[in-house]
Amino acid sequence: MGKIMQLDDALSNKIAAGEVVERPASVVKELLENAIDANSTVIEIDLEEAGLARIRITDNGDGIQEDDVLLAFQRHATSKIKNENDLFRIRTLGFRGEALPSIASVSRLEMKTSTGIEGNKVVIEGGKVEAIEKADSRKGTDISISDLFFNTPARLKYMKTIHTELGNITDVVNRLALANPDISFRLVHNGRQLLKTTGNGDVRQVLAAIYGINMVKSMIPISGESLDYNISGYISLPDITRASRNYISTMINGRFIKNYALVKAIQEGYHTLLPIGRYPVVLLNIEMDPLLIDVNVHPSKMEVRLSKEQELNELVSSVIKKAFKTKELIPAGFVAQKLEKPKSEQTYMELDHMPEAVKLSDSTKPTSFSKPFVEEKPSELSQRYKAAVQQDHSKEEEPNWQNAFVAQESFMDTKVVEDEYEEIDNTVIEKENYFEEQESQSLEQASRVPPLYPIGQMHGTYIFAQNERGLYIIDQHAAQERIKYEYFREKVGEVATELQDMLVPITLEYSADECIKINEYQHELEKVGVFLEPFGYNSFIVRSHPQWFPRGEEKGLIEDMIEQLLLMKKVDIKKLREEAAIMMSCKASIKANHHLRNDEIQALLDELRRSSDPFTCPHGRPIIVHYSTYEMEKMFKRVM
Ligand code: ADP
Ligand code: MG
Repeated sequence: MGKIMQLDDALSNKIAAGEVVERPASVVKELLENAIDANSTVIEIDLEEAGLARIRITDNGDGIQEDDVLLAFQRHATSKIKNENDLFRIRTLGFRGEALPSIASVSRLEMKTSTGIEGNKVVIEGGKVEAIEKADSRKGTDISISDLFFNTPARLKYMKTIHTELGNITDVVNRLALANPDISFRLVHNGRQLLKTTGNGDVRQVLAAIYGINMVKSMIPISGESLDYNISGYISLPDITRASRNYISTMINGRFIKNYALVKAIQEGYHTLLPIGRYPVVLLNIEMDPLLIDVNVHPSKMEVRLSKEQELNELVSSVIKKAFKTKELIPAGFVAQKLEKPKSEQTYMELDHMPEAVKLSDSTKPTSFSKPFVEEKPSELSQRYKAAVQQDHSKEEEPNWQNAFVAQESFMDTKVVEDEYEEIDNTVIEKENYFEEQESQSLEQASRVPPLYPIGQMHGTYIFAQNERGLYIIDQHAAQERIKYEYFREKVGEVATELQDMLVPITLEYSADECIKINEYQHELEKVGVFLEPFGYNSFIVRSHPQWFPRGEEKGLIEDMIEQLLLMKKVDIKKLREEAAIMMSCKASIKANHHLRNDEIQALLDELRRSSDPFTCPHGRPIIVHYSTYEMEKMFKRVM
């Protein structure tokens, strides 16, 4: 007799579970996907000990009919696809028929389900059916998973702290809630409610429930389309950033996905507006023909392959760029005032980075839309300046921070929540009008910074300037960096590549599999002027480089190109040139502690006004802050 034998179902389910059910969050993800696929409108997730003790998910969806109850726990048993054709047109979140048998094989599972006519209950322990009996007929499914991984001790040991596992679960629930604003989600952990969404279809309300009202007020809508893609969503203004990518949620056809290139495209859209190492808060919905997407890449269904990835990434970057193109992004200066905010808000904010007060062009709009902590009312002078704008914003009220916090903390008090939601509505509409306004304005006046007149310099570092709207403080190094950066960007621009020979060739070493990939895409490198010659087994040699490479950075740039090639299968020359321009601009700029005469200051300010992006340096730090005349008057108690 041969040595090979067919494994029994219980064992093969357990093996599959290794991939499908990595941790409690994967169980929650799979069960929620099932509830969503079953057309539920209300879904409750009740956890004990971050799901390690118990996960209970109740939905009001279609339910499973009696004949199918046991079948649902068979491997590759699904109601979602029937044949090969369906596999390429997937509209549901599930399709592999793996989740229920996998979960059941590594836990104690109890499920009550009903289509509304009859109800059934099944109990399964470690993959073995212990009981099946009649149950009540409330339409929907109620599934409870206890003692996850009780029979896979190695996996159980691998679990992190309650805190980490719970973090992973909330991440899953948040994203599915964002992808499904028309479903009401409620997440409860050890009896405490962590999230509740209304399910009324307004994604801004989901964003508010997750990130807080203030975040939503500082997000702007985006949308755009190409031949194959339709994108929409909300993005945070550049000065509200987070330390991790976790706040970027990307969905394709309602499925949240992880895609490195897409995150890169979003960052590319923010361009130099983001500080290094910081990420925006983004919700991006992508709609496309399911034929163009392969979701059958990994059992977790979070990775996808797109047939026209490049087109999508370009669309995403350009839509985000466009959203920021026409704005004046000078932040307000009043740091001291911010410290006086109510304690409750501080606690909530300290979760990460505190949203700063952003003031978007008060030349056309006396009150900032993201509500800075000092409300700005037009002074006499600035009123004259603003006479052209016939809008009365004086009725606008200070945000109620206390209420905002209540709304974030608990959704019990619906009155407060509704009020706050109204506020979101208004804010967003206001922003939309505002951008239109800006767009037409910017056509007439080329610069997005108003004329500035030097007052002087402080500590050889900061430039003080004024105009009728108040005081401006400019970081001179940052300003210079911006100006030089735009100059070098032009210089290393898009011209055809001229080559320069090197005295000492560069040698590069890669692993065998990397070498195979590099060889395959070598033509991409040649297109941009880098010619690799094979050198020994796993090395290449490069004898020349494109003229625009800054001195001393040659090897680093070629390595960057190859890294891009390995990751994205192409070389983004524009991006590399830009990095080179940033490097050169930093080296060439005046450092702090350098005295400037008034005429030099004026020249610098004029140049800054001419630059296409005068608000942040290439590293994303602010160049200019503004104290309005009104704020100054208020500070000296000339007005109340
Ligand atoms: P898949 O979702 O890939 O089809 P699963 O193992 O997750 O596979 O589920 C098997 C089947 O059980 C589904 O195809 C569906 O018909 C049914 N099912 C699972 N969960 C639910 C639910 N909450 N409501 C209704 N039907 C469900
Ligand atoms: Mg499923």
